[in-house]
Amino acid sequence: MNNVLLHADSIGDNLSQWLNGNGGDGLQNALSEPSNIISIIEQAGLRGLGGSGFPSYKKWQFVADQVAKPDKYLICNGNEDEPGTFKDAHLLLHSPHQVIEGALITALANGINHIVFYINPEQELAIEKVRIAVEQWQTSDLFAQIEAHLNSALRIHVMASSGHYIGGEETAAIESVEGHFPFPRGKPPFPAVSGVHGSPTLINNIETLSNVPHILKNGAQWYQDLGCGNSAGTKIYCLSGDVLQPGVYELPMGTPLSELIYDFGGGMLLEKEIKAVFTGGASSSILTPKDLDVPLDFDSVHARGSSLGTGAMIVVSEGTGIVKRVTEYVNFYAHSSCGQCPPCKTGTFYISQLLNKIDTGQASSYDLDSLINLCKILPGSGRCHLLDGAIKIVDSSLLHFVDEYKHSLT
Ligand code: SF4
Repeated sequence: MNNVLLHADSIGDNLSQWLNGNGGDGLQNALSEPSNIISIIEQAGLRGLGGSGFPSYKKWQFVADQVAKPDKYLICNGNEDEPGTFKDAHLLLHSPHQVIEGALITALANGINHIVFYINPEQELAIEKVRIAVEQWQTSDLFAQIEAHLNSALRIHVMASSGHYIGGEETAAIESVEGHFPFPRGKPPFPAVSGVHGSPTLINNIETLSNVPHILKNGAQWYQDLGCGNSAGTKIYCLSGDVLQPGVYELPMGTPLSELIYDFGGGMLLEKEIKAVFTGGASSSILTPKDLDVPLDFDSVHARGSSLGTGAMIVVSEGTGIVKRVTEYVNFYAHSSCGQCPPCKTGTFYISQLLNKIDTGQASSYDLDSLINLCKILPGSGRCHLLDGAIKIVDSSLLHFVDEYKHSLT
């Protein structure tokens, strides 16, 4: 990983190595005053870094407030199956102890006695590394201190997720942890009230958790100062596509998109011009060259009609067919729909069919009108975000590149 602020690369698979280096201090501070942890997370301004941007302290407080039930769960969400997203696997592979320390502090803050590491099954090595790292923590003195504070045994389970894209959705992850197919659930009840086996459940992304030890170690103000405005700290970007140096980059919030692409990504292949950037796991609105100056923080990207999402930035150059690229992504979403909601099941199928027709030069203007109409009537009719995400990229590609669509018609 380049330009590292928080997430040091290859910081060791061994717990003593982690504790003798930068690790452990955050957990020590947390153990000294567990009742202050949520307030420190609030002051730091930590937000969900897996795509939601939701203030972490609010999510935590909902779970901390649930005191009537004997069990509480934390799902450490490393399902990560969005196109162009590979940051959680990097964190789990290169710094498992950092993520586990974040999860332990989170459990301590919320009175959680079951932690589940829920990791994409393709990341076999990451699963193995986390398993070994967890075993090392379980025999440590720090772990015993946490259990003493919780007044309960702390159980940790490392499991492969279902491997479906939709398995990363919060309630789908709960279903999966319970051993079922990851069908997203309706809400309410919300996971904080009734999640795994009816117990209060907190679901946090791996990147979010990996920030926690550093906040507890260095303080809320330190974390605020790394970022800007309502976006504190740093963000990890998965830069891919037509850049010279694709990879995982951690940068302070507010770093301009152009800096990510040109200073860290080495610029464009063959010195081509940028045509578009697919953001947030290809489920957000597309950015175009006029957005290169956008500071990469929650509010600024939102003001351009898109979102940071997972931090995936897929850069495409002039000469790339936008219709073909959008078709590929929508095919993925149509294939990933769990089928519970008819508008999603049939909607993504029809949109995918129309796009494939347009892309292969077999569509008429009637088909394009049908596509535009589906993008108007379908949003908001699915139980989870999949349908809306698929429509967003079609909609924004129509907004910026409608001439390419028209050019493909018969
Ligand atoms: Fe399943 Fe789609 Fe409904 Fe989500 S919106 S629950 S993926 S059918």
